[in-house]
Amino acid sequence: MQVAVCGDGGVALLYLQGMSKERYPGATWAPLPESGTHGTYTKTQLIFHSTGTTASASANRRYFASSNVDVESTLIVDYDGGCLQIMEASEKADANTTASRRAISVEVVGTADEPYTAAQVARCKDIAKWACENHPIARRQCPAHDESGLGWHVMFGAPGPWTTVSGKECPGPKRIVQVRDVIIPSVRLSSSLTPAPTQEDTDMAFITRGSGNTQYLTDLLTTKRWIRNGTALTALKADGIRELLGAEYDSVLAGLASGPDIL
Ligand SMILES: [Zn+2]
Repeated sequence: MQVAVCGDGGVALLYLQGMSKERYPGATWAPLPESGTHGTYTKTQLIFHSTGTTASASANRRYFASSNVDVESTLIVDYDGGCLQIMEASEKADANTTASRRAISVEVVGTADEPYTAAQVARCKDIAKWACENHPIARRQCPAHDESGLGWHVMFGAPGPWTTVSGKECPGPKRIVQVRDVIIPSVRLSSSLTPAPTQEDTDMAFITRGSGNTQYLTDLLTTKRWIRNGTALTALKADGIRELLGAEYDSVLAGLASGPDIL
């Protein structure tokens, strides 16, 4: 992984967020030969599947990598919760017919007549949480085939908008219940009870807590991160900041006021 070294905390932060957006941190990156050639799109849906066999994630990756196979998913989850990522998250993955451009696609090892294992359910919950945090995917069951949210392959019929195969069961009756009643609700729950803090939330919490670490605070206020998101001046005017920064306050304020991105 390359690290941006440019003396600008804001740029470095955005770079790292970009990596997290394209690569699920819990997966081993094992790109298909066609990775990088399918085009990138805004992902507004997450769709769960079954591989249909008991073969491992690695075996499924080899199948998708075959020169005569032109379908694939974004991620493949093994029985034990191990996970391979074979395409960048924003790249088109050909698994969902009309939704292939807008959906992150998750293959889960196993047949359509068995449930996901506990390890697979845990992994799918974590993937769903990551996907909703890093892509504009609504934390809900898709209300329609072309609306944002989470779903499963045959959710809108077989054949239907997400599959051309008549009678397809993917991911299978027991697994559909798990997606609908366990995995999707876990994302809604994580949203309502423990919203993921943004960097701005974290920094603002630091300031309102009144920590005496003036060096950290000065660093925060003088990185372009604060100027760009429009909160630097607000932060400077918060109660106690002048006292906290002491003699540094005027110079920090002057530095911000002369910055090119302010106002
Ligand atoms: Zn499927």
